[in-house]
Amino acid sequence: MVKLKYYDTPADEQNRRRISRSLDEEYSFLNHSIIGTSRCGRSIDAYSLGNEDEQVLLCGAFHGMEWLTSLLLFRFLETVCNSLSQGICVRDIRLDRFLRSRGAIIVPCVNPDGVEISLNGECAAGKFEQRVSAIAQGKAHRWQANACGVDINHNFNAGWKLLHEREAESGITGPSLTRYGGEMPESEPETKAIVNLCRSKNIRHAVAFHSQGEEIYWSYGSITPKNSRIMAEAMARSSGYALSTPQGLAVGGGFKDWFISEFKKPAFTIEIGSGRNPLPASKLSEIYNRLEEMLALCLIM
Ligand SMILES: [Zn+2]
Repeated sequence: MVKLKYYDTPADEQNRRRISRSLDEEYSFLNHSIIGTSRCGRSIDAYSLGNEDEQVLLCGAFHGMEWLTSLLLFRFLETVCNSLSQGICVRDIRLDRFLRSRGAIIVPCVNPDGVEISLNGECAAGKFEQRVSAIAQGKAHRWQANACGVDINHNFNAGWKLLHEREAESGITGPSLTRYGGEMPESEPETKAIVNLCRSKNIRHAVAFHSQGEEIYWSYGSITPKNSRIMAEAMARSSGYALSTPQGLAVGGGFKDWFISEFKKPAFTIEIGSGRNPLPASKLSEIYNRLEEMLALCLIM
């Protein structure tokens, strides 16, 4: 079992490693791989379970301050592993049976450098320390981007150009704590890691976890897949979260929009929890308990 205190601790690199090691040691059927490397050389890890012919992707921590999503996904991963090894239900759902026909792939932390900078300051940015320091102006604890000041969730190739223009209109013209989409789409290794993963697998649908707002985003204009709404409604009913439509700088450039436009399959953004980022680790249990059934539904829909 993963020690409970690990789930009470922010998901920095050291803590993610400890959780990962516990899971690797206990569950031999868990397939742990490295799908890419961040700007600072940190690994981007993926964990898969069940049938690999078709998989549901869950990923978190695109943004530095939103590391609670990593803890949420690790805790769910442990629950799923436990249900597989014991043959027990998760919220009355026999996930072990479903996973025989459709697997899961979980990427708890897409932006490990951003998480590390937000938790430990500019010194966590390695060779980019000075640049991060100049951009952050004493606010490294508010860091959302990667180590080069590119917001990963503005760096995907979906409506990127329009988003780039909107960024400029709101005064974001270069590397920044948040919301700068880079020189071109997919310029960042963290973005490429997720893009390459999706292209190399048969992903049925994808769910990206952010914080905060207790909201579910499911649409991308006229190309929204027809199943998206009914799936989002099931997720909303289970979690009590609201269904939302993005506005302004939240439109385009993000993972959900890219996944929908590239594969014509459903993708979702879920904003977990309420309050102000970073949400504290002490909120994990409450949020996890509220979302566990929804997470299980994500795997079987
Ligand atoms: Zn976010």
